[in-house]
Amino acid sequence: KTSVMWFRRDLRVSDNIALAHAVENSDKILFVFHIDTQQLEKQPTVNQSSFFASVQQLKKSLKKQNINLYVFYGELKDMFNHIKKQLPHWRDLYFNRDEHGYGGERDQVITKYCQEKLNISVHATMDYNLHAAHDIKKADGHYYQVFTPYFKRWMTLVKSNPITIDLTNISQEHLTVSTLEQDSMLDALIDEKHSYAYVDQIGEDKARKILSDFIENKLTQYDQNRDVPSLDATSHLSRYLRTGEISIRVVYEGIKQAPDSDGRSTFIKELCWRDYYNMIYATHPQQNESAIRPEFRQIRWRDDKIGFDDWQTGHTGFPIVDAAMRQLNETGWMHNRLRMIVASFLTKDLLINWQWGENYFKQKLVDYDPASNIGGWQWAASTGTDSVPYFRIFNPTLQSKKFDPQGLFIKKYIPELKRIPGAKIHEPNKLSSIDQKRYHISIGHDYPKPIVNHKTARINAIAAYEKSKTMN
Ligand code: FAD
Repeated sequence: KTSVMWFRRDLRVSDNIALAHAVENSDKILFVFHIDTQQLEKQPTVNQSSFFASVQQLKKSLKKQNINLYVFYGELKDMFNHIKKQLPHWRDLYFNRDEHGYGGERDQVITKYCQEKLNISVHATMDYNLHAAHDIKKADGHYYQVFTPYFKRWMTLVKSNPITIDLTNISQEHLTVSTLEQDSMLDALIDEKHSYAYVDQIGEDKARKILSDFIENKLTQYDQNRDVPSLDATSHLSRYLRTGEISIRVVYEGIKQAPDSDGRSTFIKELCWRDYYNMIYATHPQQNESAIRPEFRQIRWRDDKIGFDDWQTGHTGFPIVDAAMRQLNETGWMHNRLRMIVASFLTKDLLINWQWGENYFKQKLVDYDPASNIGGWQWAASTGTDSVPYFRIFNPTLQSKKFDPQGLFIKKYIPELKRIPGAKIHEPNKLSSIDQKRYHISIGHDYPKPIVNHKTARINAIAAYEKSKTMN
């Protein structure tokens, strides 16, 4: 039996549900990856560069097992047509399907096309989450809108174990479809400029090593340290979950086997957030275009390009916000507490549409995931299902004092502030002229004055949200 295994955001050969099914039911398997022209940004972004680097890594590691990963570029239907013409014996297509968004729609179209036009049996499996969106419903048959009851239910459900896959008997003999293969296209999409985001950091082995190091060294203290950016106490697994270089079942299993601790319980809850946002995205498909809460669809966001630019580049005059944005720009990743702070700052202090921020994260994050990103942004903007109330607005200076009291994280990313002692670093604009001399810094010149007054901005934001409510 000849099959095609279509890799997407499941770039691994271990514990891959679609691949396991393909191996079980086929003698020969053609491994393919398709570069979707419709999803390509005009310039390679960090997000896409690092993702394609992981595709290339999968190709390399498969090659070591004498398996070729065929990389196609162009129309998806053309790819399947082409394969069918070259391999008339091809009967089955295996892939892990998307539950929502662009990928979900594409999967439906392609399934119909392969079944009806090419006479192929399509086997689309669920692989990306511990529980699929439609698996968890309330007793009344509706989907949860609040995290805590969802989490309680989620905890009671049995999770699948990882599966072992043996590729040794898989043959690719006479499976050649070389004419459309375009490896050079893959190279072109990996921008060396973004290499910091993935050099030495990719592949299944690396992902597993990161998991085991985290379990050994950081898991027990995770609950206490996870909110302190300077401690770097989180797992950094998001990047590998996004590309699929590690499966969510392997992560869950590894954590479950660790000794019980508050750190372990807190971490499991975070994995549930991932499923929760996946469910919210699948059940509110419009949420990347508008607020989930209808009462906040009329907010008059400010069209402030300069403020947005200051936010993007880390020049707002609020050290914690600026350090966080510089971490994102320099590394392709940002600590969770900081994502909440910068998202709150953009939407409430600058009153800029959360979609601008969401889109910026989309380009810059190596772990970009639409469900978690849109979920996180709608949470911070108070427009999501179970989000922060619109009147409870983060004070960036207090957040800074609480989560980076000594300014250690700030100093790492804003070297111009490195001489300022911890207690004074959170509000550099309050430094006296004597202090500015002492610390070799001129505020307004070497580092910006705050671009907004938090107290006034807070009042304005609450007013804008309340106005939207009255217009609903
Ligand atoms: P850890 O603390 O080690 O957590 C382990 C895993 O749990 C993460 O890898 C992730 O898969 C999951 N997780 C943890 N927190 C969350 C959460 N709040 N929501 C969903 N899953 C979570 N996460 C992404 O994976 N991609 C995104 O594009 C993304 N955008 C975000 C945007 C905003 C505005 C906010 C507030 C959060 C966003 N998150 C996103 C969630 C979270 O910030 C990251 O998952 C986390 O920082 C990744 O680092 P880590 O792997 O070290 O996390």
